This record gives sequence, C-alpha cells and structure tokens, in this order.
Amino acid sequence: MRIFQKGFNFGQDGPGNRLVYHLQGCNMRCIWCSNPEGMSFGGGTEYSPEEIEKECIRSKMMFFSGGGVTFTGGEATAQADDLLEVLRKLRNADIHTCIETNGTSTRLAELLEYIDYLIMDFKHYDSDTLKKYTGVGNEQIKKNFEMLCQSGRQAHIRIPLINGVNTGSPQGFAEYFSRYDTGNVVFEFLCYHEYGKDKWTEEYKMENGFVSKEKLQEFIAVFKEYGLKIVTT
Ligand code: SF4
Repeated sequence: MRIFQKGFNFGQDGPGNRLVYHLQGCNMRCIWCSNPEGMSFGGGTEYSPEEIEKECIRSKMMFFSGGGVTFTGGEATAQADDLLEVLRKLRNADIHTCIETNGTSTRLAELLEYIDYLIMDFKHYDSDTLKKYTGVGNEQIKKNFEMLCQSGRQAHIRIPLINGVNTGSPQGFAEYFSRYDTGNVVFEFLCYHEYGKDKWTEEYKMENGFVSKEKLQEFIAVFKEYGLKIVTT
C-alpha cells in the first residue's frame, strides 16, 4: 500500500481520534485539490498490509472517543486489493475503520462489508460538469450513492461547495438525493478553501472558488426543505 502521509486527527476524518492514512494516487484531477501531492500514482512510501496492521494495533490506545483508523487519499479505493486486505485484518483486530472516497470505485460494495464508517464525496449531480472540472463523470458515483441508500448502511456524503463549479443549483443536488431513501444518509457541506494552493507544482487553475455565508445558508435551507439531514464536523 503506497502512502504519502499519515498521522492522528480528531473528529474530521470519521468519529473520534483516528490514525489517518493518505493513500498515494487518485483517478480524479479536481482543479481545487488540496492534496495535489497525492494525485500521482508514483511516489509515497510502500507499506505491506502486515505493517499497517501492526502499526494500527500498536496505536489502539489512541483511538479514544469512538476512534479508529481512516484511509483517505489521494483516493483510498484506488488501491482496492491492499485496502481490502488491511480492512479485513483490522476487522479481525476489532479496530473501527473509516474510508473517505471520491465515490468512483466499482468495488465500493465489496469494500463496504469491512468499513464501519463511510464518507463519500459527491461533487456534482451533472456528469458533464463534473468531468469538466475533475476529468471524471459521475455515473459510478451515482450508482454507489444509490447502492448505499438501498443497503441501509450508514453513509456520510460530503459536498465541497466551490463557487463557479457547483453552487448554481442547490435544488439540482437535493432533487437528485431525495429520489432515494436517505434515511441512513447524512450530508455535509465543505466550503472551498485554498490550503492546498501552494502545494501545486502545475498551474493552480481554480479562481474565485470561495463561497459566501449566504450561499451556504441557501444550500442548508434547500436541503432541509427536501428533508435531507445535514451534519457539520
Ligand atoms: S478526488 Fe480528492 S484527492 Fe482526488 S483530485 Fe479530487 S480532491 Fe484531490
């Protein structure tokens, strides 16, 4: 498993205090990405599933407040074979697991069996627009969202709000989500920030991405109107 960063974090990458692994490589190319160093499939440091397992077991006493281990990226599911193996080991070790994913994996249902807490991005309801800004359409993301609704499993959907990219129509999101049974799903908005800007070695093409408080409030109001549950972390 190739990893470019790891460390503890409280409450932002799943419940409680967590050991967070950033896996190297992502299949998307979001122009606002705050971890551009994780996009390429080269680089990072290789760890065997056994090494990760041992490190997690050694860290068990740190997993307070319902914590555990989170795999994020880059894109965690892009290394699905290794991820599956590690998740199985952590399940056997009784360690709580979370993944943060961009939702594009065809293997999410398979992985889900060993994931205790799932966080999935949903960046746009319109496939062509998503493709324009990330290089990837949303067909598989929608399939995965629908699979999650049908499964009845807990799901935490994160929507990064980025001015000029996806803030034009809160109704477009809410209308799509509300077609499904979202009883098990919570939604979170993350407003655009520029923390990753200086890490880009290529040109940073994102301009004027900041979202106003009013825009965020508009999204919250529309989602509430459609009966969608909102969380903040
Ligand atoms: S999906 Fe996430 S990690 Fe991948 S390019 Fe987009 S923002 Fe970056």
